[in-house]
Amino acid sequence: MTAPLIDPFQRAISYLRVSVTDRCDFRCVYCMSENMTFLPKRELLTLEELDRLCSTFVRMGVQKLRITGGEPLVRKGIMTFFDAMTRHLATGALKELTLTTNGSQMERFAGDLYAAGVRRVNISLDTLDDQKFADITRWGRLAQVIKGIDAAQNAGLRVKINTVALKGFNEDELFTLTEWCASRDMDLTFIEVMPMGDIGNEDRLGQYWKLSDLRARLGERFTLTELTERSGGPARYVRLEETGQKIGFITPLTHNFCESCNRVRLTCTGELYMCLGQEDMADLRAPLRNNPASDAMLEEAIRAAITRKPKGHDFDYSRQTVDGRVSRHMSHTGG
Ligand code: SAM
Ligand code: SF4
Repeated sequence: MTAPLIDPFQRAISYLRVSVTDRCDFRCVYCMSENMTFLPKRELLTLEELDRLCSTFVRMGVQKLRITGGEPLVRKGIMTFFDAMTRHLATGALKELTLTTNGSQMERFAGDLYAAGVRRVNISLDTLDDQKFADITRWGRLAQVIKGIDAAQNAGLRVKINTVALKGFNEDELFTLTEWCASRDMDLTFIEVMPMGDIGNEDRLGQYWKLSDLRARLGERFTLTELTERSGGPARYVRLEETGQKIGFITPLTHNFCESCNRVRLTCTGELYMCLGQEDMADLRAPLRNNPASDAMLEEAIRAAITRKPKGHDFDYSRQTVDGRVSRHMSHTGG
């Protein structure tokens, strides 16, 4: 192993989120437009390149890999990549291999993912109503995702549900969703909607549901115990005493938890974003492709990028404009 990655603010980089495709079989309204243009295939890192890149990061101290997208499970041959990462779990260098998925392909992949060493998955689900599900995902069908969740649990995967909190959309399902997750022994994390992509500003601000309000409403029915555990990301957790369930709140906009940030994000084209809320990135595809026989240039490029990791992001909704917004899509950087 080479020297660990430490940024200028003394944060150790131990967590890499990797987008393996910009494509998706859904078109969630807050994430993509209906007629998205996707990248030409040659722009994407190949599965071998993804392996080489992730393995380099693992050698440099990354202990947790989260595979995302787009929808990671629509990437052709993706199990080859998961299977390849199993070797890093076997040596103990990698502590966790996981993914965030919309669940649509879970029925097909759950068993294979478990066999590759995946133990936990995040599945995104914003509503339990068939029609609302079709409306928000445009192309998704709720029944297919529920089957995916069943398959994941049957395969032995621990499932956490991710729900984007949307005013006027799933406010009325707060307790239904919470109780449904409790009945299936699943934790639940609410995500504040972020100013990404190209949905009109007004729409997004209209949909913005402050998680402090959501949390206060939960507190009217449940006893909330604050948990001290930290993931190094913009999430805070409580336990609901009545159900024993863990509820997370991801509030990148209203809070700054950047001081403990331990992560960087790799896009499917090999761009490394040091912060979700900033435009600065480093191209890792060139040093990777130009040096097929050695990882030295790649390692150097990664180290140079980490020295540019900013102290924090600039999202700010408080001024009621979408200041500090970034123009790229969530599906590009990987959620
Ligand atoms: N397709 C997979 C999925 O939906 O889980 C993985 C990629 S998706 C970009 C990752 C997460 O980002 C999902 O939970 C999704 O709900 C969330 N997301 C997408 N756009 C968002 C936005 N504008 N604000 C907040 N969360 C968003
Ligand atoms: Fe696809 Fe996930 Fe974006 Fe929805 S949030 S469009 S499922 S990438």
